[in-house]
Formats: sequence, structure tokens, C-alpha cells
Amino acid sequence: MITDEQITKFQEIYKKQYNKDISREEAYESAQNLLGLVELLYDQYIIDKKRKLRLEKEPKGFHLEGQGYTCHICGNSTSDEDTWYDKYGIKCMTCQRAIDKKIIPASVAKNEDSWYSKYDLESRFNIDRYAMSRFIKAGILKPRIIRNENGSPHAYLFLIKDNKDVLPPKKLTESQLVVETKDDKEWHRHEPWYKFVDPYEHLKGYKIMDYLHSGKKEAN
Ligand SMILES: [Zn+2]
Repeated sequence: MITDEQITKFQEIYKKQYNKDISREEAYESAQNLLGLVELLYDQYIIDKKRKLRLEKEPKGFHLEGQGYTCHICGNSTSDEDTWYDKYGIKCMTCQRAIDKKIIPASVAKNEDSWYSKYDLESRFNIDRYAMSRFIKAGILKPRIIRNENGSPHAYLFLIKDNKDVLPPKKLTESQLVVETKDDKEWHRHEPWYKFVDPYEHLKGYKIMDYLHSGKKEAN
């Protein structure tokens, strides 16, 4: 609960910070939101702390209890016995088995800048799935394939170190936030990187652009 005194304090701090008065209701609501955020962060902090302590005793890792975790590798939702937590973070068991079998390095869970997913390639280079399978078949793009227990593909990871000289560092292909003011309102949206630069100049020396280019020529 927030006391009257705290609301007054919040009004004072707000005035100092922004040189603007806010009503008691606004101060109450802002303080309430802030408190909610702090509680959320604190809860998460305690959860993390507990996991790390347990990891000291069980360094290989363990299943997490509960529903709705997100695998840091395939991005799928995972729960209870299907989760695995270790110093690299949360993974589903399908991805964890691929790590155990050395199909992918464990570090991919922590370092998402070291690889592109299929979705990353689709969204950042506008590659459709037909072109993608053509590139894979031709050996131009080299994926590590995580498989389900029945052998079907679960996820494709294109490690930058496997695709040297073809795929650029991910920071060169991040989308950018565009802020537009329309009807006195601010609109935010993400635009792909190639709308802001000359893509061939920007990714000079990375073969992916040559292949995209030749692919388009063929299509014409
Ligand atoms: Zn996974």
C-alpha cells in the first residue's frame, strides 16, 4: 500500500525531476505503477537468485517447475520436465539434447548474436522458404539442424562461424525503430535495415548479397 506521505513525496520528486505539478491521483497512479514494476523486478531477481544457488549444487542443470518458459534457442514455449536450466539459460529438452549430442554449441542459448534463425534470414534478407532450401541444398547456407525425436526438423541454426564470408554480423542487419508523428500522436514501427542504407555497400564482402542478387536475376 502507498501512504499519503509517499504520495506527497512522489509529487515532490516529480516536480524536481520534470518541473511540473501532478495531481494526487496522478501521483498515486504513477507510484502504484512504479511499485508494481519494482515488485515484478524483485520477484524475478529472487527467482534468478534461487536458481543460481541451486546451480552451484547441481552444475549440470535441472528442470524448472511450472509452465510457459521460452526456450532461448528455438523460441518455443516449454514447461516442467521439458525444460532444462543451466548456466546458459533456459532451453527445451529437444534443443538441450542437440547440445548434449554436440550438434550445436551450448553458447548459442546465451549468445543470440552468434547465429541467425530461419526467421532471422527470412525477415532480414527477405528470403522466402524456396530460396532458403535452394541455398541450403547448394551448400551456400550451412545450417545446424536440431531434430525432434522422430527425426523431423525442430529448428535450423545458421551459425556465423559456419557461414563465414556469407552472413554478416547480426548488428549490421538489425531493424530500426522509426518514430513518426501523425495526428499529434507518436507512432513507432520497425523498418528493415536495408531501407536506411545501400544494402550492397553496407554488406560488401558478404556473399549473401551476391546470391540474393543472382537469385533475382534468374527469376527475371
Ligand atoms: Zn528449444
